[in-house]
Amino acid sequence: MQPQILEELRAIVGERWIVSSPEELRTYECDGLTNFRVVPSAVLLPDSTEQVQGIVRVCHRERIPFVARGAGTGLSGGALPVAGGIVIGLARMKRIFEVDLPNARMIVEPGVINLDVTARVSGAGFFYAPDPSSQSVCSIGGNVAENSGGAHCLKYGFTTTHVLGLEVVLPDGTLAHFGGKTLDAPGYDLAGVFVGSEGTLGIATKIILRIVKRPERIQTLLAAFHTTNEAGAAVSGIIAAGMLPAAIEMMDTLAIQAAEAAVHANYPACGGLLLVELDGPAAEVESLIANVDAICREHGAWEIRVAQTETERALVWKGRKAAFAAMGRVSPNYIVQDGVIPRTALPQILSEIEQLSAENGLRVANVFHAGDGNLHPLVLYDRRIPGQEKAAEKLSERILELCIEKGGSITGEHGVGEEKKHMMSKMYAEPDLETMQRVRCAFDPLNLSNPTKVFPRTRLCGEKPGEYVPHPLETAGIAERF
Ligand SMILES: Cc1cc2nc3c(=O)[nH]c(=O)nc-3n(C[C@H](O)[C@H](O)[C@H](O)COP(=O)(O)OP(=O)(O)OC[C@H]3O[C@@H](n4cnc5c(N)ncnc54)[C@H](O)[C@@H]3O)c2cc1C
Repeated sequence: MQPQILEELRAIVGERWIVSSPEELRTYECDGLTNFRVVPSAVLLPDSTEQVQGIVRVCHRERIPFVARGAGTGLSGGALPVAGGIVIGLARMKRIFEVDLPNARMIVEPGVINLDVTARVSGAGFFYAPDPSSQSVCSIGGNVAENSGGAHCLKYGFTTTHVLGLEVVLPDGTLAHFGGKTLDAPGYDLAGVFVGSEGTLGIATKIILRIVKRPERIQTLLAAFHTTNEAGAAVSGIIAAGMLPAAIEMMDTLAIQAAEAAVHANYPACGGLLLVELDGPAAEVESLIANVDAICREHGAWEIRVAQTETERALVWKGRKAAFAAMGRVSPNYIVQDGVIPRTALPQILSEIEQLSAENGLRVANVFHAGDGNLHPLVLYDRRIPGQEKAAEKLSERILELCIEKGGSITGEHGVGEEKKHMMSKMYAEPDLETMQRVRCAFDPLNLSNPTKVFPRTRLCGEKPGEYVPHPLETAGIAERF
């Protein structure tokens, strides 16, 4: 980067908050998906909306691509820097501006950590519902960009349900406001468009969140089955009975072993474990928990426990939430996959994954949001064994193809980012992708905001829209477009 531009950026954030030495820049070369690495030209750590605007204006004028970064826990390479571009880290912007309990609203900056939102209002009996397993470290800005989910999104909805309004620095530095504190503002739902846009439409600098009153009673039940198939059938049974638990999570043997080794959650050693949480008025929860117990037994549960204390309940969740990271205890390397299927297809896809695992000689652990049909197969491998990493990548891609074949999706909550952009054309037809590109171009005609992510190929905003004309090599079946 030209020295005078670097100086201009330095003047915006102050000497201490610009990172430009090659060693320090390496800290930002990847996010939670470490297979992809790009060292940025500089990292800026602004402290205010005005500073973000100042940086983005310079980028716009000089045509420098930029990537927003929250806590860098993303699992699809969304915060991966773009070559020759800068990273705008929002971690210092962690003020909570307003807590409006009577209207159940909060206004926060993007760098606020997910769990800190709940911490701020729990004393008053409120909580922030979307609870990614990474909630003790990930930022609200990252949650907004990824439309993050979590165990309790089955009942309460994903991040998009809880984001009512946004202040956004657009890719030319303009400040825009989408949505607001009240519901259903007239005009296009631009807050809805922005949530889940993975940093491609600008940078969120303030977020109006909806918070929720803590229910009177919460009960958590553990049910042990011989197989994940039985557990999957119980999930369908619970939903078919008309119940909507706060959470239904599933873990298989490998996931249980890893979580046990890491946090000693005292899970039963079994082939398929369900964690079912019910919340609401005490009388309702007591009656429903008896129904869940009965349905689980009908489908083969051989041990059922209900957490008796808050400490026991917290331990049950600690095990589940630690499961990804705990995988390091049973395998030197693993790929965390994230796909969605209609939940009725659960038993079938779990059998197919088991078969693929046997055919490829690679272990696959399953720990996932069963109620949402949001799978997280973890493909285990050893990088030191030649060819095994590639085989693991192929297997995890095949699992995503199975999800598409079943009418599902290539991602439920981790985003497309860098990792899955080549899969977008397997999921969407060209006119669908074209329409999404038109939205992106309306926000970012110069293609500067996280420009290389999400879409399978970079299309210039001036490029003539319309039907994609395949290359003759594609038509001949010689080449494939990613
Ligand atoms: C152990 C582990 C468990 C996880 N469990 C879950 C889970 O249960 N559910 C789930 O959904 N995810 C989960 N994740 C993934 C990850 O934590 C989430 O995607 C999270 O929302 C990312 O937040 P972040 O602050 O780390 O964002 P980053 O990784 O820094 O960025 C993610 C994306 O957001 C963009 N971005 C960041 N801030 C802004 C902003 N202010 N404005 C615009 N764009 C922005 C970035 O450009 C990037 O595209 C898990 C990750 C780990 C490591």
